[in-house]
Amino acid sequence: MEAKESYDLIVAGAGMAGNLAAAVAAKKGLEVLLLDRNDSDNVGKKTNWGWTCGDAVAGSHLDYITSKTGINFSKPELDVKVDGVYALSPDLNSKFLFDGVGYVLDRPEFERKIRDVAVKNGAHYVTQFEVEGPVLEGNKVAGVYGKDKDKNHTIYKSKLVIDALGISTVLRRRLPDNNFVEKNVDIDDVETTGRYIIEFELDHEDERYYDPKNALIHLNQEMAPGGYGWVFPKSGNKMNVGLGVQKRSLDIRNKALKRNDTLQNLIDQYIAWLPVIKNKEYKIFNKDNNGKGIWSVAVRRQMESLVYDGYMGAGDSMVMPNPISAGGIGPAMVSGILAGENAVRAIEANDTSTKGLWQYNLDFNKEYGYKTAGLEVFRIYLQSLNNDVLNYGFKNFLSVKEANQLALGMMPELSLASKFSMVLKGTKNIGAFRDLLYAVGKMKELNAIYMKYPEKPEDFEQWKSKVSKSMHEAKERFKPSPI
Ligand SMILES: Cc1cc2nc3c(=O)[nH]c(=O)nc-3n(C[C@H](O)[C@H](O)[C@H](O)COP(=O)(O)OP(=O)(O)OC[C@H]3O[C@@H](n4cnc5c(N)ncnc54)[C@H](O)[C@@H]3O)c2cc1C
Repeated sequence: MEAKESYDLIVAGAGMAGNLAAAVAAKKGLEVLLLDRNDSDNVGKKTNWGWTCGDAVAGSHLDYITSKTGINFSKPELDVKVDGVYALSPDLNSKFLFDGVGYVLDRPEFERKIRDVAVKNGAHYVTQFEVEGPVLEGNKVAGVYGKDKDKNHTIYKSKLVIDALGISTVLRRRLPDNNFVEKNVDIDDVETTGRYIIEFELDHEDERYYDPKNALIHLNQEMAPGGYGWVFPKSGNKMNVGLGVQKRSLDIRNKALKRNDTLQNLIDQYIAWLPVIKNKEYKIFNKDNNGKGIWSVAVRRQMESLVYDGYMGAGDSMVMPNPISAGGIGPAMVSGILAGENAVRAIEANDTSTKGLWQYNLDFNKEYGYKTAGLEVFRIYLQSLNNDVLNYGFKNFLSVKEANQLALGMMPELSLASKFSMVLKGTKNIGAFRDLLYAVGKMKELNAIYMKYPEKPEDFEQWKSKVSKSMHEAKERFKPSPI
Protein backbone atom coordinates (compact mmCIF):
# COMPACT_ATOMS: atom_id res chain seq x y z
CA MET A 1 0.00 0.00 0.00
CA GLU A 2 1.22 3.48 -0.89
CA ALA A 3 1.92 5.92 1.93
CA LYS A 4 -0.61 8.73 2.06
CA GLU A 5 1.97 11.32 3.05
CA SER A 6 5.51 11.58 4.31
CA TYR A 7 6.79 13.74 7.16
CA ASP A 8 10.01 14.42 9.03
CA LEU A 9 8.39 13.31 12.27
CA ILE A 10 5.23 11.50 13.29
CA VAL A 11 4.06 12.01 16.86
CA ALA A 12 1.57 9.28 17.71
CA GLY A 13 -0.80 10.24 20.55
CA ALA A 14 -1.82 13.81 21.41
CA GLY A 15 -1.69 13.54 25.21
CA MET A 16 0.62 15.29 27.66
CA ALA A 17 3.79 13.92 26.07
CA GLY A 18 2.72 14.00 22.41
CA ASN A 19 1.36 17.54 22.26
CA LEU A 20 4.55 18.98 23.75
CA ALA A 21 6.85 16.87 21.57
CA ALA A 22 4.96 18.08 18.49
CA ALA A 23 4.94 21.69 19.71
CA VAL A 24 8.71 21.72 20.26
CA ALA A 25 9.64 19.95 17.01
CA ALA A 26 7.27 21.99 14.83
CA LYS A 27 8.54 25.23 16.31
CA LYS A 28 12.05 24.29 15.24
CA GLY A 29 10.82 23.83 11.68
CA LEU A 30 10.28 20.09 11.33
CA GLU A 31 7.32 18.84 9.29
CA VAL A 32 5.35 17.15 12.03
CA LEU A 33 2.26 14.94 11.85
CA LEU A 34 0.38 14.66 15.16
CA LEU A 35 -2.06 11.72 15.29
CA ASP A 36 -4.71 11.02 17.91
CA ARG A 37 -7.74 8.75 18.03
CA ASN A 38 -9.99 11.40 19.58
CA ASP A 39 -11.89 14.24 17.97
CA SER A 40 -10.56 17.73 18.52
CA ASP A 41 -12.61 18.58 21.67
CA ASN A 42 -11.54 15.33 23.31
CA VAL A 43 -7.84 15.57 22.52
CA GLY A 44 -5.72 13.52 24.93
CA LYS A 45 -8.68 11.49 26.25
CA LYS A 46 -7.21 8.16 27.27
CA THR A 47 -10.23 5.92 26.83
CA ASN A 48 -14.01 6.08 26.43
CA TRP A 49 -14.05 6.72 30.20
CA GLY A 50 -12.32 10.04 29.79
CA TRP A 51 -8.94 11.41 30.84
CA THR A 52 -8.96 9.27 34.03
CA CYS A 53 -6.31 10.85 36.25
CA GLY A 54 -5.79 12.41 39.66
CA ASP A 55 -4.56 15.41 37.65
CA ALA A 56 -2.10 16.55 40.33
CA VAL A 57 1.18 17.91 39.04
CA ALA A 58 4.15 19.53 40.78
CA GLY A 59 4.60 23.25 40.25
CA SER A 60 8.26 22.62 39.44
CA HIS A 61 7.25 20.55 36.40
CA LEU A 62 5.02 23.32 35.08
CA ASP A 63 7.87 25.81 35.62
CA TYR A 64 10.13 23.55 33.59
CA ILE A 65 7.62 23.47 30.70
CA THR A 66 7.26 27.26 30.82
CA SER A 67 11.02 27.75 30.82
CA LYS A 68 11.45 25.43 27.82
CA THR A 69 8.44 26.46 25.71
CA GLY A 70 7.28 29.86 26.94
CA ILE A 71 3.79 28.44 27.57
CA ASN A 72 2.25 30.09 30.64
CA PHE A 73 -0.45 28.29 32.57
CA SER A 74 -3.33 29.78 34.55
CA LYS A 75 -7.08 29.25 34.96
CA PRO A 76 -9.02 27.38 33.63
CA GLU A 77 -6.39 24.67 32.94
CA LEU A 78 -4.95 25.07 36.46
CA ASP A 79 -8.03 24.34 38.54
CA VAL A 80 -6.62 24.55 42.07
CA LYS A 81 -3.24 25.26 43.66
CA VAL A 82 -2.13 23.02 46.54
CA ASP A 83 0.62 23.74 49.06
CA GLY A 84 1.78 20.14 49.10
CA VAL A 85 0.98 16.45 48.89
CA TYR A 86 0.77 14.58 52.21
CA ALA A 87 0.90 10.82 52.73
CA LEU A 88 -0.98 9.53 55.78
CA SER A 89 -0.42 6.29 57.68
CA PRO A 90 -3.29 3.75 57.76
CA ASP A 91 -4.27 4.82 61.32
CA LEU A 92 -4.12 8.49 60.17
CA ASN A 93 -1.89 9.30 63.15
CA SER A 94 1.21 10.20 61.12
CA LYS A 95 1.71 12.10 57.93
CA PHE A 96 4.64 13.35 55.96
CA LEU A 97 5.08 15.74 53.10
CA PHE A 98 5.36 13.77 49.91
CA ASP A 99 5.75 16.61 47.45
CA GLY A 100 5.71 20.43 47.47
CA VAL A 101 3.54 23.05 45.80
CA GLY A 102 1.46 21.78 42.92
CA TYR A 103 -1.75 22.09 40.98
CA VAL A 104 -4.81 19.98 40.30
CA LEU A 105 -5.53 20.43 36.62
CA ASP A 106 -8.69 20.75 34.61
CA ARG A 107 -7.23 18.09 32.37
CA PRO A 108 -9.33 18.49 29.19
CA GLU A 109 -8.65 22.26 29.24
CA PHE A 110 -4.94 21.63 29.75
CA GLU A 111 -4.73 19.16 26.86
CA ARG A 112 -6.60 21.47 24.49
CA LYS A 113 -4.25 24.30 25.41
CA ILE A 114 -1.02 22.43 24.67
CA ARG A 115 -2.54 20.91 21.50
CA ASP A 116 -3.36 24.45 20.31
CA VAL A 117 0.29 25.40 20.80
CA ALA A 118 1.42 22.39 18.72
CA VAL A 119 -0.96 23.36 15.90
CA LYS A 120 -0.02 27.05 16.10
CA ASN A 121 3.64 26.04 15.82
CA GLY A 122 2.82 24.24 12.58
CA ALA A 123 2.12 20.59 13.46
CA HIS A 124 -0.34 18.92 11.11
CA TYR A 125 -2.96 17.49 13.48
CA VAL A 126 -5.09 14.56 12.32
CA THR A 127 -7.97 13.55 14.58
CA GLN A 128 -9.84 10.25 14.85
CA PHE A 129 -6.91 8.25 13.57
CA GLU A 130 -6.40 4.83 15.18
CA VAL A 131 -2.72 3.89 15.09
CA GLU A 132 -2.31 0.14 14.66
CA GLY A 133 1.43 -0.39 14.42
CA PRO A 134 4.81 0.74 13.12
CA VAL A 135 5.74 0.63 9.43
CA LEU A 136 9.07 -1.18 9.21
CA GLU A 137 11.81 -0.92 6.60
CA GLY A 138 14.12 -3.78 7.43
CA ASN A 139 14.12 -3.51 11.19
CA LYS A 140 13.90 0.27 11.27
CA VAL A 141 10.70 2.13 12.11
CA ALA A 142 9.76 4.25 9.09
CA GLY A 143 6.21 5.40 9.85
CA VAL A 144 2.90 4.15 11.21
CA TYR A 145 -0.14 2.38 9.83
CA GLY A 146 -3.69 2.54 11.05
CA LYS A 147 -7.26 3.54 10.23
CA ASP A 148 -8.49 7.04 9.49
CA LYS A 149 -11.85 8.40 10.63
CA ASP A 150 -13.64 6.64 7.76
CA LYS A 151 -11.95 3.35 8.71
CA ASN A 152 -9.70 3.43 5.64
CA HIS A 153 -6.36 1.65 6.05
CA THR A 154 -3.73 4.37 5.90
CA ILE A 155 0.05 4.54 5.98
CA TYR A 156 2.07 7.60 6.95
CA LYS A 157 5.83 7.55 6.44
CA SER A 158 8.44 9.54 8.36
CA LYS A 159 12.13 9.74 9.21
CA LEU A 160 11.26 9.26 12.88
CA VAL A 161 8.27 8.26 15.04
CA ILE A 162 7.67 9.45 18.61
CA ASP A 163 5.46 6.98 20.47
CA ALA A 164 3.27 8.98 22.88
CA LEU A 165 0.33 6.55 22.87
CA GLY A 166 0.24 6.03 26.62
CA ILE A 167 0.33 2.77 28.53
CA SER A 168 -1.64 0.76 25.97
CA THR A 169 0.75 1.66 23.14
CA VAL A 170 0.54 -0.57 20.09
CA LEU A 171 3.78 0.85 18.72
CA ARG A 172 6.16 -0.28 21.47
CA ARG A 173 4.45 -3.67 21.62
CA ARG A 174 4.86 -4.16 17.89
CA LEU A 175 8.49 -3.17 17.59
CA PRO A 176 10.77 -5.79 16.08
CA ASP A 177 12.61 -7.90 18.66
CA ASN A 178 15.51 -5.77 19.86
CA ASN A 179 17.87 -5.34 22.78
CA PHE A 180 16.91 -1.76 23.57
CA VAL A 181 13.20 -1.17 24.17
CA GLU A 182 11.29 -3.90 26.02
CA LYS A 183 7.92 -4.80 24.57
CA ASN A 184 6.14 -5.99 27.70
CA VAL A 185 5.51 -4.78 31.22
CA ASP A 186 5.14 -7.13 34.18
CA ILE A 187 1.60 -7.05 35.63
CA ASP A 188 3.09 -6.68 39.14
CA ASP A 189 4.48 -3.32 38.01
CA VAL A 190 1.07 -2.00 37.02
CA GLU A 191 -1.58 -0.40 39.22
CA THR A 192 -5.21 -0.77 38.24
CA THR A 193 -6.67 2.49 39.23
CA GLY A 194 -9.76 4.62 38.98
CA ARG A 195 -11.28 7.85 40.16
CA TYR A 196 -14.38 9.99 40.36
CA ILE A 197 -14.66 13.75 40.23
CA ILE A 198 -17.45 14.50 42.69
CA GLU A 199 -19.44 17.42 44.04
CA PHE A 200 -20.26 17.13 47.73
CA GLU A 201 -21.32 19.08 50.77
CA LEU A 202 -18.78 19.32 53.58
CA ASP A 203 -20.04 17.67 56.76
CA HIS A 204 -17.25 18.98 58.98
CA GLU A 205 -13.60 19.90 58.62
CA ASP A 206 -11.12 17.11 59.13
CA GLU A 207 -7.84 17.55 57.29
CA ARG A 208 -6.99 13.89 57.61
CA TYR A 209 -9.67 13.13 55.02
CA TYR A 210 -10.05 16.27 52.93
CA ASP A 211 -7.94 19.38 52.89
CA PRO A 212 -8.83 22.19 50.48
CA LYS A 213 -5.19 23.37 50.58
CA ASN A 214 -3.37 20.06 50.20
CA ALA A 215 -3.52 16.83 48.25
CA LEU A 216 -3.88 13.76 50.48
CA ILE A 217 -2.69 10.22 49.93
CA HIS A 218 -4.01 7.44 52.17
CA LEU A 219 -1.74 4.44 52.49
CA ASN A 220 -3.82 1.50 53.64
CA GLN A 221 -3.20 -2.08 52.58
CA GLU A 222 -6.75 -3.20 53.38
CA MET A 223 -8.46 -0.35 51.55
CA ALA A 224 -6.01 -0.10 48.67
CA PRO A 225 -3.75 -3.19 48.65
CA GLY A 226 -0.42 -2.51 46.97
CA GLY A 227 -1.44 1.05 46.17
CA TYR A 228 -3.15 3.97 47.86
CA GLY A 229 -6.25 6.13 47.92
CA TRP A 230 -6.23 9.86 47.20
CA VAL A 231 -8.35 12.91 47.85
CA PHE A 232 -7.30 15.90 45.77
CA PRO A 233 -9.22 19.17 46.16
CA LYS A 234 -10.87 20.81 43.16
CA SER A 235 -12.44 24.24 42.85
CA GLY A 236 -15.88 24.68 44.41
CA ASN A 237 -17.11 21.82 46.55
CA LYS A 238 -15.45 19.21 44.41
CA MET A 239 -12.75 16.61 44.80
CA ASN A 240 -10.87 14.18 42.60
CA VAL A 241 -11.04 10.98 44.63
CA GLY A 242 -9.63 7.64 43.61
CA LEU A 243 -7.73 4.53 44.44
CA GLY A 244 -5.16 2.24 42.88
CA VAL A 245 -4.30 -1.39 43.62
CA GLN A 246 -1.70 -3.93 42.57
CA LYS A 247 -3.60 -6.98 41.31
CA ARG A 248 -1.37 -9.46 43.13
CA SER A 249 -1.75 -7.61 46.45
CA LEU A 250 -5.51 -7.40 45.96
CA ASP A 251 -5.72 -11.16 45.35
CA ILE A 252 -3.65 -11.89 48.49
CA ARG A 253 -5.74 -9.49 50.58
CA ASN A 254 -9.06 -10.87 49.28
CA LYS A 255 -7.98 -14.41 50.04
CA ALA A 256 -6.79 -13.55 53.55
CA LEU A 257 -9.95 -11.60 54.38
CA LYS A 258 -12.27 -13.99 52.50
CA ARG A 259 -13.51 -11.12 50.39
CA ASN A 260 -14.15 -10.67 46.74
CA ASP A 261 -13.56 -6.95 46.34
CA THR A 262 -12.89 -5.39 42.97
CA LEU A 263 -11.31 -2.03 42.21
CA GLN A 264 -14.77 -0.62 41.60
CA ASN A 265 -16.24 -1.52 44.97
CA LEU A 266 -13.01 -0.55 46.74
CA ILE A 267 -13.41 2.94 45.28
CA ASP A 268 -17.02 3.08 46.47
CA GLN A 269 -16.02 1.84 49.95
CA TYR A 270 -13.24 4.42 50.10
CA ILE A 271 -15.58 7.29 49.31
CA ALA A 272 -18.09 5.96 51.87
CA TRP A 273 -15.23 5.91 54.45
CA LEU A 274 -14.65 9.68 54.11
CA PRO A 275 -16.66 11.22 56.98
CA VAL A 276 -16.29 14.71 55.54
CA ILE A 277 -18.91 13.98 52.86
CA LYS A 278 -22.27 14.99 54.32
CA ASN A 279 -24.72 12.07 54.51
CA LYS A 280 -22.33 10.13 52.24
CA GLU A 281 -24.11 11.84 49.35
CA TYR A 282 -22.33 13.14 46.28
CA LYS A 283 -22.90 13.85 42.61
CA ILE A 284 -20.55 12.92 39.81
CA PHE A 285 -19.24 16.15 38.23
CA ASN A 286 -19.38 15.22 34.59
CA LYS A 287 -17.91 18.19 32.71
CA ASP A 288 -16.44 16.92 29.42
CA ASN A 289 -17.96 13.54 30.27
CA ASN A 290 -14.93 13.02 32.51
CA GLY A 291 -16.55 12.26 35.86
CA LYS A 292 -15.73 8.61 36.28
CA GLY A 293 -13.08 6.29 34.92
CA ILE A 294 -10.81 3.30 35.41
CA TRP A 295 -7.44 2.80 33.73
CA SER A 296 -3.92 1.52 34.40
CA VAL A 297 -0.69 3.16 35.37
CA ALA A 298 2.75 1.55 35.40
CA VAL A 299 4.89 2.09 38.50
CA ARG A 300 8.36 0.89 37.52
CA ARG A 301 11.49 2.56 36.22
CA GLN A 302 11.08 3.86 32.69
CA MET A 303 12.16 1.58 29.84
CA GLU A 304 15.93 1.35 30.14
CA SER A 305 16.29 2.64 26.59
CA LEU A 306 13.73 5.07 25.17
CA VAL A 307 15.06 4.81 21.63
CA TYR A 308 15.42 2.31 18.84
CA ASP A 309 16.10 2.70 15.11
CA GLY A 310 13.64 5.32 13.83
CA TYR A 311 11.74 5.28 17.13
CA MET A 312 11.55 7.25 20.38
CA GLY A 313 9.05 6.95 23.22
CA ALA A 314 7.79 9.50 25.73
CA GLY A 315 5.41 9.42 28.68
CA ASP A 316 3.35 6.39 29.68
CA SER A 317 4.30 4.47 26.54
CA MET A 318 7.75 4.24 28.19
CA VAL A 319 6.26 3.52 31.68
CA MET A 320 7.52 6.80 33.10
CA PRO A 321 5.22 7.53 36.05
CA ASN A 322 6.91 7.88 39.42
CA PRO A 323 6.98 4.37 40.96
CA ILE A 324 5.72 5.43 44.37
CA SER A 325 3.34 8.29 43.60
CA ALA A 326 2.25 7.12 40.11
CA GLY A 327 2.64 10.75 39.07
CA GLY A 328 3.14 10.55 35.33
CA ILE A 329 2.11 13.99 34.09
CA GLY A 330 5.46 15.58 34.99
CA PRO A 331 7.69 12.96 33.36
CA ALA A 332 5.35 12.78 30.33
CA MET A 333 5.71 16.52 29.75
CA VAL A 334 9.45 16.60 30.44
CA SER A 335 10.07 13.64 28.13
CA GLY A 336 7.80 15.11 25.44
CA ILE A 337 9.91 18.23 25.34
CA LEU A 338 13.23 16.38 25.40
CA ALA A 339 12.01 13.96 22.71
CA GLY A 340 10.96 16.90 20.53
CA GLU A 341 14.34 18.59 20.96
CA ASN A 342 16.26 15.40 20.22
CA ALA A 343 14.10 14.62 17.20
CA VAL A 344 15.17 17.96 15.72
CA ARG A 345 18.82 17.27 16.47
CA ALA A 346 18.75 13.77 14.95
CA ILE A 347 16.82 14.74 11.83
CA GLU A 348 19.08 17.73 11.19
CA ALA A 349 22.09 15.40 11.55
CA ASN A 350 20.35 12.94 9.21
CA ASP A 351 20.81 10.10 11.69
CA THR A 352 17.72 8.58 13.31
CA SER A 353 19.41 5.31 14.18
CA THR A 354 19.56 4.15 17.80
CA LYS A 355 22.98 5.77 17.99
CA GLY A 356 21.77 9.03 16.46
CA LEU A 357 18.91 9.21 18.99
CA TRP A 358 20.93 8.13 22.04
CA GLN A 359 21.36 11.63 23.47
CA TYR A 360 17.65 11.56 24.38
CA ASN A 361 18.31 8.67 26.78
CA LEU A 362 21.02 10.71 28.46
CA ASP A 363 18.93 13.87 28.59
CA PHE A 364 15.92 12.16 30.17
CA ASN A 365 18.07 10.23 32.59
CA LYS A 366 19.71 13.46 33.75
CA GLU A 367 16.49 15.43 34.03
CA TYR A 368 14.30 12.80 35.72
CA GLY A 369 15.01 9.15 35.03
CA TYR A 370 18.08 8.57 37.22
CA LYS A 371 15.98 8.17 40.38
CA THR A 372 13.15 5.92 39.23
CA ALA A 373 14.83 2.53 39.67
CA GLY A 374 15.55 3.47 43.31
CA LEU A 375 11.95 4.56 43.75
CA GLU A 376 10.81 1.25 42.29
CA VAL A 377 12.69 -0.52 45.09
CA PHE A 378 11.04 1.74 47.66
CA ARG A 379 7.66 0.87 46.14
CA ILE A 380 8.16 -2.87 46.42
CA TYR A 381 9.42 -2.39 49.97
CA LEU A 382 6.22 -0.49 50.86
CA GLN A 383 4.11 -3.19 49.22
CA SER A 384 5.71 -5.75 51.55
CA LEU A 385 4.41 -4.01 54.72
CA ASN A 386 1.01 -4.56 56.28
CA ASN A 387 -0.96 -1.81 58.00
CA ASP A 388 0.47 -2.51 61.46
CA VAL A 389 4.03 -2.22 60.23
CA LEU A 390 3.18 0.86 58.18
CA ASN A 391 1.67 2.56 61.24
CA TYR A 392 4.68 1.64 63.33
CA GLY A 393 7.18 2.53 60.64
CA PHE A 394 5.63 5.94 59.91
CA LYS A 395 6.07 6.81 63.58
CA ASN A 396 9.41 5.23 64.39
CA PHE A 397 11.54 4.38 61.40
CA LEU A 398 12.26 7.74 59.88
CA SER A 399 12.31 11.40 60.73
CA VAL A 400 9.88 13.49 58.69
CA LYS A 401 12.86 14.92 56.80
CA GLU A 402 14.24 11.48 55.94
CA ALA A 403 10.84 10.23 54.78
CA ASN A 404 10.43 13.28 52.59
CA GLN A 405 13.89 12.81 51.07
CA LEU A 406 13.11 9.17 50.32
CA ALA A 407 9.82 10.04 48.65
CA LEU A 408 11.67 12.47 46.39
CA GLY A 409 14.19 9.82 45.43
CA MET A 410 17.00 11.33 47.49
CA MET A 411 18.93 9.00 49.75
CA PRO A 412 19.10 10.18 53.32
CA GLU A 413 21.96 9.01 55.46
CA LEU A 414 19.59 7.39 57.94
CA SER A 415 20.54 9.37 60.99
CA LEU A 416 22.21 7.72 63.91
CA ALA A 417 19.40 9.13 65.98
CA SER A 418 16.78 7.19 64.12
CA LYS A 419 18.85 4.00 64.19
CA PHE A 420 19.50 4.45 67.89
CA SER A 421 15.86 5.10 68.64
CA MET A 422 15.07 1.78 66.98
CA VAL A 423 17.35 0.00 69.37
CA LEU A 424 15.72 1.77 72.29
CA LYS A 425 12.31 0.81 71.06
CA GLY A 426 13.16 -2.84 71.22
CA THR A 427 12.79 -5.55 68.67
CA LYS A 428 9.22 -4.97 67.50
CA ASN A 429 9.29 -4.76 63.74
CA ILE A 430 13.08 -4.76 63.71
CA GLY A 431 12.90 -7.03 60.64
CA ALA A 432 10.96 -4.36 58.75
CA PHE A 433 13.49 -1.75 59.86
CA ARG A 434 16.36 -3.91 58.64
CA ASP A 435 14.47 -4.25 55.38
CA LEU A 436 14.26 -0.48 55.17
CA LEU A 437 18.02 -0.20 55.58
CA TYR A 438 18.41 -2.82 52.86
CA ALA A 439 15.97 -0.93 50.59
CA VAL A 440 17.82 2.35 51.08
CA GLY A 441 21.09 0.58 50.31
CA LYS A 442 19.60 -0.82 47.12
CA MET A 443 18.24 2.59 46.18
CA LYS A 444 21.72 4.04 46.53
CA GLU A 445 23.17 1.21 44.46
CA LEU A 446 20.66 1.73 41.66
CA ASN A 447 21.05 5.51 41.71
CA ALA A 448 24.81 5.01 41.34
CA ILE A 449 24.23 2.68 38.37
CA TYR A 450 21.91 5.21 36.73
CA MET A 451 24.43 8.01 37.33
CA LYS A 452 26.64 6.01 34.97
CA TYR A 453 24.03 5.64 32.24
CA PRO A 454 25.93 4.42 29.15
CA GLU A 455 27.19 7.17 26.89
CA LYS A 456 26.76 5.00 23.78
CA PRO A 457 24.51 2.10 22.71
CA GLU A 458 27.45 -0.32 22.59
CA ASP A 459 27.73 -0.19 26.38
CA PHE A 460 24.02 -0.59 27.01
CA GLU A 461 23.69 -4.34 27.42
CA GLN A 462 26.36 -4.59 30.06
CA TRP A 463 24.88 -1.66 31.98
CA LYS A 464 21.38 -3.10 31.74
CA SER A 465 22.48 -6.41 33.18
CA LYS A 466 23.68 -4.54 36.29
CA VAL A 467 20.25 -2.92 36.65
CA SER A 468 18.47 -6.26 36.19
CA LYS A 469 20.67 -7.99 38.75
CA SER A 470 20.20 -5.33 41.39
CA MET A 471 16.44 -5.12 40.82
CA HIS A 472 16.08 -8.89 40.84
CA GLU A 473 17.76 -9.06 44.25
CA ALA A 474 15.38 -6.46 45.67
CA LYS A 475 12.35 -8.25 44.21
CA GLU A 476 13.49 -11.55 45.70
CA ARG A 477 13.71 -9.94 49.14
CA PHE A 478 10.40 -8.05 49.11
CA LYS A 479 7.17 -9.88 48.32
CA PRO A 480 3.72 -8.29 48.42
CA SER A 481 2.27 -8.86 51.87
CA PRO A 482 -0.71 -6.57 52.39
CA ILE A 483 -2.30 -8.39 55.32
C1 LIG B 1 -6.50 6.81 37.70
C2 LIG B 1 -5.19 7.49 37.42
C3 LIG B 1 -4.77 8.53 38.24
C4 LIG B 1 -3.59 9.20 37.95
N1 LIG B 1 -3.25 10.28 38.72
C5 LIG B 1 -2.17 11.03 38.41
C6 LIG B 1 -1.90 12.24 39.11
O1 LIG B 1 -2.64 12.67 40.00
N2 LIG B 1 -0.78 12.93 38.76
C7 LIG B 1 0.04 12.51 37.77
O2 LIG B 1 1.06 13.17 37.51
N3 LIG B 1 -0.22 11.39 37.05
C8 LIG B 1 -1.31 10.64 37.34
N4 LIG B 1 -1.61 9.54 36.59
C9 LIG B 1 -0.75 9.21 35.42
C10 LIG B 1 -0.98 10.18 34.26
O3 LIG B 1 -2.35 10.30 33.99
C11 LIG B 1 -0.23 9.70 33.01
O4 LIG B 1 1.10 9.47 33.38
C12 LIG B 1 -0.28 10.70 31.84
O5 LIG B 1 -1.57 10.83 31.33
C13 LIG B 1 0.66 10.24 30.72
O6 LIG B 1 0.53 11.05 29.60
P1 LIG B 1 0.89 10.49 28.15
O7 LIG B 1 0.80 11.65 27.23
O8 LIG B 1 2.13 9.72 28.19
O9 LIG B 1 -0.26 9.41 27.80
P2 LIG B 1 -1.83 9.53 27.75
O10 LIG B 1 -2.31 10.61 28.65
O11 LIG B 1 -2.35 8.17 27.95
O12 LIG B 1 -2.14 10.01 26.24
C14 LIG B 1 -2.07 9.12 25.15
C15 LIG B 1 -2.89 9.65 23.98
O13 LIG B 1 -2.75 8.72 22.89
C16 LIG B 1 -4.04 8.32 22.44
N5 LIG B 1 -3.95 6.95 21.90
C17 LIG B 1 -3.68 5.81 22.58
N6 LIG B 1 -3.66 4.76 21.74
C18 LIG B 1 -3.93 5.24 20.50
C19 LIG B 1 -4.01 4.64 19.21
N7 LIG B 1 -3.83 3.33 19.04
N8 LIG B 1 -4.26 5.44 18.15
C20 LIG B 1 -4.44 6.79 18.32
N9 LIG B 1 -4.37 7.41 19.51
C21 LIG B 1 -4.12 6.65 20.60
C22 LIG B 1 -4.92 8.42 23.68
O14 LIG B 1 -6.28 8.43 23.33
C23 LIG B 1 -4.40 9.73 24.27
O15 LIG B 1 -4.96 10.81 23.60
C24 LIG B 1 -2.77 8.81 36.86
C25 LIG B 1 -3.19 7.74 36.06
C26 LIG B 1 -4.37 7.08 36.32
C27 LIG B 1 -4.82 5.97 35.42
